[in-house]
Amino acid sequence: MNAKPVHAAQTLFPVEDDCLLVGGIPLTRLAQRVGSTPFYAYDRRLLSERVAHVRAHLPPAVELHFSMKANPMPALVQHMAGLVDGIDVASGGELKVALDTGMAPGRISFAGPGKSEAELTRAVAAGAVVHAESERELRLLAAIGEQLGIAPLLVLRINPDYELKGSGMRMGGGAKQFGIDAEDAPRLLNLCAQLGLTVLGFHIFSGSQSLKAEAIIEAQAQTFSLARELASHTRDPVRILNIGGGFGIPYFPGEAALDLAPIGEALAAALPGVGADLPDAQVSIELGRYLVGEAGVYVARVIDRKVSRGQVFLVTDGGLHHHLAASGNFGQVIRKNYPVAIGNRMSASAARESVSVVGPLCTPLDLLAERMELPQAQVGDLVVVFQSGAYGRSASPQGFLSHPDAPEVLV
Ligand SMILES: *Cc1c(COP(=O)(O)O)cnc(C)c1O
Repeated sequence: MNAKPVHAAQTLFPVEDDCLLVGGIPLTRLAQRVGSTPFYAYDRRLLSERVAHVRAHLPPAVELHFSMKANPMPALVQHMAGLVDGIDVASGGELKVALDTGMAPGRISFAGPGKSEAELTRAVAAGAVVHAESERELRLLAAIGEQLGIAPLLVLRINPDYELKGSGMRMGGGAKQFGIDAEDAPRLLNLCAQLGLTVLGFHIFSGSQSLKAEAIIEAQAQTFSLARELASHTRDPVRILNIGGGFGIPYFPGEAALDLAPIGEALAAALPGVGADLPDAQVSIELGRYLVGEAGVYVARVIDRKVSRGQVFLVTDGGLHHHLAASGNFGQVIRKNYPVAIGNRMSASAARESVSVVGPLCTPLDLLAERMELPQAQVGDLVVVFQSGAYGRSASPQGFLSHPDAPEVLV
């Protein structure tokens, strides 16, 4: 019998002979194949299943985009490109990876504050859709379009006057560096007309990491009414309406998975009205974390086992430098444990003990699990951190303390 799962995330991965399987491969064998620890591993099957799950709940008319900053590993982005309708990028570097997948350039959208002239030029030249976030970007796009003899594909990113309630990260509402304030949009739509820029539509992103279906439904309703209001200020038909995403995944004890059913039902109910008012609008949602976060694990090896004044410490070769979020973001948040397991000791009958799992860095912040009940582990065992497929490796300070970077595998 296998151990009672520490977290629902663990149940996504099968267990065989007490060993966790990732991509169908026992973790001990996968570690040999990678050749070193620590590493990140992403499970193709789980990625595909997650996209299918979202599709099963969303109305078919709604397009699904992957926000690749959640996980920019090229092989993973390539896999996702075959499953989704578009890729959202946030830098020139991400644009290159997205274009390399063969995704049609018109299905790649580039949002983010402070785009450089070089980045905008590359996006226009490639035929990607630019989500402009300021007056400066609009003026630059008009000049670049003229210079290249290419009409830029332009969407206005709007900073709404509301936010996604209870979201882990506020990306809209109030004063923000993101997007064009909704109340300033009429003026900038006028400017677009003067500059000869066609506006294809609007991108309205109000927040991230929400586990509350009602909050997401409410934000989507506000987004549709804002889009209608904005549409009344432009002569161009609204063709693209990106309503953001914000679907979260559970990380900590007590958090429950987001229920997509009511979100899909509310969207299905709202679409006919949106279609009547904005008949040319293609509605899309953009998701990063929700699509990839649960499909990835971070794996580190126990290299020392110490007891300090009665407390057991498992010292691993991985930590904060590879996985900042699991460590607690440099102590800026009240730290809670990510779901963690000993990947080669998944048996229910294993004797358990309370341990802290730490990394090799010279800071008490380098903590992967604090006083957690885990099977008794030995040097050489594999510590697994679940929920590590999004904002893991690329969102961590790998240069800190000059340890080797963590390789990534897609299996
Ligand atoms: C980062 C980002 C996303 C993805 O957010 P997730 O929480 O990973 O789904 C979506 N849209 C925009 C504009 C973003 O900047």
